[in-house]
Amino acid sequence: MAGTMNQHDKRQWLKHVLLGTSHRVQLDDQEYLVDVVETRETEQGEMEAYVHFRGQDSRLDEWISAYRLKPADPTSPAHGDATKAITTSRIRGGVKDTTMAQSTESAELSTSMQGPTETVNNDSEPLKPRNIDSIIFGMYEIGTWYHSPYPEEYGLEADKMYVCEHCLKYMREETSLRTHKASCRLRSPPGDTIYQQGENKILRVDGKDHKLFSQNLCLLAKLFLDHKSVYYDIEGFVFYVLTEQDSRERRTDNLVGFFSKEKISYENNNLACIMILPPYQRKGYGKLLIEFSYELARHENQIGSPEKPLSDLGYRGYRSYWASVILRALIQAEDPITTTINELSNMTYIHENDVIDALRYAGLLKFVKTTDRTSDPTALTICISRAMVEHAINLTGAGQQRWIDIDKIKWTTQ
Ligand SMILES: [Zn+2]
Repeated sequence: MAGTMNQHDKRQWLKHVLLGTSHRVQLDDQEYLVDVVETRETEQGEMEAYVHFRGQDSRLDEWISAYRLKPADPTSPAHGDATKAITTSRIRGGVKDTTMAQSTESAELSTSMQGPTETVNNDSEPLKPRNIDSIIFGMYEIGTWYHSPYPEEYGLEADKMYVCEHCLKYMREETSLRTHKASCRLRSPPGDTIYQQGENKILRVDGKDHKLFSQNLCLLAKLFLDHKSVYYDIEGFVFYVLTEQDSRERRTDNLVGFFSKEKISYENNNLACIMILPPYQRKGYGKLLIEFSYELARHENQIGSPEKPLSDLGYRGYRSYWASVILRALIQAEDPITTTINELSNMTYIHENDVIDALRYAGLLKFVKTTDRTSDPTALTICISRAMVEHAINLTGAGQQRWIDIDKIKWTTQ
């Protein structure tokens, strides 16, 4: 149909017919059901549609030629695993493929467990199309995942954006970055070092004291976070920034990731958002930061939970952390083990709902004795043997490894 239309009709078709509709698309011999999020005409006059693959995270959303879209048959479900096909078309700098592999690997684990109910919205609302294709960040070119509200003159459909890896200042041109770097004195994120172990440091950055850095950090983070919006109230947050010592220049600490925390959380959230830059993923850094956030909660004597919704990757990271901490606590108890959700929560500083989630994931929630107050989840008593805990450890692959050395935390700077 599109082939016989004139230019004006094509534009009308893009704008008014395609937008917001569902279509089918063929990719690598597989057919997928997609929703059209946005449409555009390229400089070469190509008609393109930004599509969201039904049932998949929106980091896989992609611009494709609008002519590849076929009308959707509303009765036919989407076929195949979109992750597999799209991975091949979205590999950038060897970064994206490993992340996708991680997601597929974790997905396999969660289906093989059969127990847990997903509490996150996996079919997230498609938001805006990615506005920046990739960022040049230190030695890396990193393909981005989501839209981030960089000012339009920098981020309006930019192919590449140049970001100073030290102060996070963003630029459109490579020459601007070169000029900037000649004068940028920062060799580490600002803030106080409150943790140091080997080549890693965690710095406490108060949004009030380092407003520009914190704002830049939020803009950068949004490129890799779907749900969490950038904070306009930067001053109300503290950022715990993880670094890795530069292998070539030892005085330089490179940004690896961070988590943010509200100074006052009315919902008792012990973490607002967490992000590890793609080149540093799959190295245990996410677990390290999650563990640190719980040490912080212990230090502040506050049992809390991360802010919801969690991304699919974030939820998997948390669930695996909760399971390993709870299983570690259980394996140390006397056999046979009798304990309550409330006891486990007090021991680990993990919120009761998350304890329940972890026990379900580990297949241990079914061994529960309900007392007379059954509506109260804290009254749940679990009765299990050590052998069952060992079995759950094998099943979940819950590591016994700790990522934070508590003796190396210096709370005194707070
Ligand atoms: Zn700089």
